[in-house]
Amino acid sequence: KPLVVAIDGPSGSGKSSVSRETARRLHAAYLDTGAMYRAVTWHCLDTGVDLQEAASVEKASREVDLKISTDPDHELVSVDGTDVTLAIREPSISSAVSAVATTLGARAELIRRQQQIIADSGRRIVAEGRDITTVVAPDAEARILLTASEEARLRRRGIQLGGTQGDAQLQEQVLTRDAKDSTVVNFHEAADGVFTVDSSDLDFEETVEAVLAAVRS
Ligand code: C5P
Repeated sequence: KPLVVAIDGPSGSGKSSVSRETARRLHAAYLDTGAMYRAVTWHCLDTGVDLQEAASVEKASREVDLKISTDPDHELVSVDGTDVTLAIREPSISSAVSAVATTLGARAELIRRQQQIIADSGRRIVAEGRDITTVVAPDAEARILLTASEEARLRRRGIQLGGTQGDAQLQEQVLTRDAKDSTVVNFHEAADGVFTVDSSDLDFEETVEAVLAAVRS
């Protein structure tokens, strides 16, 4: 059974880049579970599945041919053979993804797929998302919650507090997504036995070091 380093946190905590770099340093595999929620969302929008219809979203999540690379040096997500690596980062996906994440049947299916990918990886794997420490891999060798103040999280996304109207709109989008996601997963508080790394006052390298220290401790 592969050793898992589980990392959870809200958007803008630097989670993805820090997790990917942690995987490189540990010579481990890497799984971005958020990319899977995004890929299902892309698929639903592409095929006209109504995101408000739970049964249809769940069915789509079960039937879609979803492939995701677990090589930290090679980012690739595909849906039914189409490379969606870049498309799933579009704002239209970010604003729709919570609808998939809060559809419990689709969640159950993605959790099952994530656990399968981890089991199949055959080596140590850094898995990141919102519910890895609590649901996907609660028995992980290391469980880390990567947090950051709201101000730091917005700053990292290039959003200025009290900035332009565009900034205010982006801020609204980020906070709305976190609020929606929080209704089904708690990624704001560390569960029992989960180590918190607060990156508010740390730069990228310091954050990676803090995560690696938590893994070694
Ligand atoms: O990490 P990222 O921001 O790319 O995740 C996109 C979305 O996927 C989140 O906003 C959330 O709705 C969902 N997600 C989730 N559980 C995870 C990972 C992501 O619900 N483990």
